[in-house]
Amino acid sequence: MTPVRLVAATANPDKLAEMALVLGDAFDLMPRPVDLDEVVEDGDTLLDNARLKAVAACGASGSASVADDTGLEVDALGGAPGVHSARFAGEDATYADNVEKLLAAMDGVAPGRRTARFRTVALVHRPDGSEVFATGTVEGWIVDRARGDGGFGYDPLFVPVEGDGRTFAEMGDEKHALSHRGRAFRTLARKLVGHL
Ligand code: IMP
Repeated sequence: MTPVRLVAATANPDKLAEMALVLGDAFDLMPRPVDLDEVVEDGDTLLDNARLKAVAACGASGSASVADDTGLEVDALGGAPGVHSARFAGEDATYADNVEKLLAAMDGVAPGRRTARFRTVALVHRPDGSEVFATGTVEGWIVDRARGDGGFGYDPLFVPVEGDGRTFAEMGDEKHALSHRGRAFRTLARKLVGHL
């Protein structure tokens, strides 16, 4: 079967690597168009932001494009950082800045009250204006010190409830079986090609 060609909207190599791994051989994932300016992610929801990115990449490439938007929802923080996860510690925040800010915000929160979830919306936008999207979530909790060198973003702080107590950053590729992104992209792939 000919692989389904999708242009990736993301400039984030960590996300791109995870998408490519989960989507596998049934998809031909092309890099982000070089002439695509940074997309302002000012949507109110993950779906809005995923759509903004996929539509922009589709416009720049003329081909079906795929984007994901992810948020970490921490119950003790009223669902924050949520759709603002990338900018939690400020406009140009690094992964380390965001991790530090989350640890500080959770300082003193009791173990039983540190519940959280990652949520991803993965969306394909096609030149004819049609779209297909899927959501993936994973429940877990926020640890009180960063653990592990793998993954990216908030991974050193998040332990999935279905795991064995390791953070996502301590898991390597095992992360994808449980993760929000793994779930969202497997469902998206099923919707697009009917398997995976
Ligand atoms: P966005 O989807 O690029 O807007 O990502 C939102 C924020 O969540 C960024 O700070 C990412 O680093 C972080 N993030 C996205 N996906 C993951 C993940 O799989 N693990 C941990 N952090 C993530």
